[in-house]
Amino acid sequence: MMRSGFTYPDSPHRRRHGPLGYADYDSYRPWLRDEFDFRCVFCLIREQWGRVSGEFDVDHYIPLSIQPGGATDYDNLLYACRACNAAKGSHLIPDPAVVLTAREIVVYDDGTVEGIGEDAIRLIRVLDLNDVEYCRWRRTRLRIIDLAERYDRPLFNQLLGFPEDLPDLARLRPPGGNSRPDGIRESSLAKHERGELPPTY
Ligand SMILES: [Zn+2]
Repeated sequence: MMRSGFTYPDSPHRRRHGPLGYADYDSYRPWLRDEFDFRCVFCLIREQWGRVSGEFDVDHYIPLSIQPGGATDYDNLLYACRACNAAKGSHLIPDPAVVLTAREIVVYDDGTVEGIGEDAIRLIRVLDLNDVEYCRWRRTRLRIIDLAERYDRPLFNQLLGFPEDLPDLARLRPPGGNSRPDGIRESSLAKHERGELPPTY
């Protein structure tokens, strides 16, 4: 069965954007929102499921305490919800963008998750992705999505669709340029403008 909303990516993430040179890491936020499909790279909570302001953080994969120079290195930045970012803290962990694929983490109907490989198991443990609260939240969310799919199609499309405020990355001018300019064509807004963005994902 397809568990809508909690399907991890099919394959390890390959960065499509490469903005450079912003002095503060929060300026990378529009790029990261698009890069990671407007959801937390760890638990898959989506912007569309609640308030956006204050709920999503720019996370440093290699913590600042270990590599202070990585503060504004785009490839070291992840898009994560506040809860996961706090749980991660200054832990050194396997890269979730590489490890958390559909092959490595299974989400069950009861809201629990299971890691397959060693790295996925470790990530689940460090992030506490199987704790009671996360599981209850997942179970409730799965039921809401399931009910919406059957009885409230507009709500279903809202819950599993892209946000309306897709960032216009083509208009942004990172101070140090963009090492992956071709990624703009693959941004959600560009796909939307070409009519290629799916209604749900
Ligand atoms: Zn999260």
